[in-house]
Amino acid sequence: MKTAIDTRRILDQLEAQHPDAGTALDYGNAYELLVATILSAQSTDRRINLVTPELFRRFPDAHALAAATPAVLEPLIHATGFFRAKAKSLIGMATALVERHGGRVPADMAALVALPGVGRKTANVVLGHALGVPGLAVDRHVLRVANRIGIAASDDPEVVESQLTSKLPRARWTRASDTLILHGRRICRPKPLCDQCAVRDDCDYFARVILPARRAARPRTSPSRGTRRVRPPRR
Ligand code: SF4
Repeated sequence: MKTAIDTRRILDQLEAQHPDAGTALDYGNAYELLVATILSAQSTDRRINLVTPELFRRFPDAHALAAATPAVLEPLIHATGFFRAKAKSLIGMATALVERHGGRVPADMAALVALPGVGRKTANVVLGHALGVPGLAVDRHVLRVANRIGIAASDDPEVVESQLTSKLPRARWTRASDTLILHGRRICRPKPLCDQCAVRDDCDYFARVILPARRAARPRTSPSRGTRRVRPPRR
C-alpha cells in the first residue's frame, strides 16, 4: 500500500483534476442532508434532487417527519426505489432525533450511527458537509478507486476509511472522499478510462492489469517484417 506522502500527492493530483468535487445532493441544513443521503441509497443524486423539494416542503424538520405515516410518505419517495424500507428508516430516524436530540442532528459519529437507517457512510457525509466535522465517507466508488490506485487495500469500507484517514490530515478528509467519488463516477468507472486519468502513472491497477492486457492485445509482428536485408559485401 502507498505511503502517506504518496497518498497526499495522489490526492493533490486528483483534486486538481476534479476541482468541482462536492456532494451533488441539494440541501439547506443538516436535517435535509441526512434525509437526502438516506434516500440516495441505490439511487442517483439527480433523482433525489427531484423528490426532496416537495418532501422538505411537507416535512420541514424532524418533528414533522416523525409524525408522518408510511401511507403519506411512501408515494412522495416512490421514485427513489426501496421506498417502503426508506420510509420506515426516515420515520424511525426522525423519531429518534426528536426523542434523543430534541429534533436536532447531532454532530457526533456515535450518536448518528445509532439512528435507524444511518451507517458510517451517511454519517460521514452529513458530518463533513453540514456540520463542519471532517468525515471520509467510503462508498463503492471510493472503495474501487482507492484499492485500484493502491492508497488503500481492503474490501471493508470501515477498514478503507481508517487506512485513508490515517494518511491524510483531518482537514482533507471530506474533500478526499468527494474527489474519489467523482473520480469513480467520471474516470475510474468499473471499465476505467485510464488514458484520461491524472494518476495513471501512480496506479497499481494500471501497471498490473491494464498495461499488461494492452501489451498482450497488440498484434505480433513477424521477425522478418521490418528487418532490412543486409547485402553481403562486394568482393
Ligand atoms: S489509471 Fe485507470 S484504474 Fe487507475 S485510477 Fe486511473 S482510471 Fe482508475
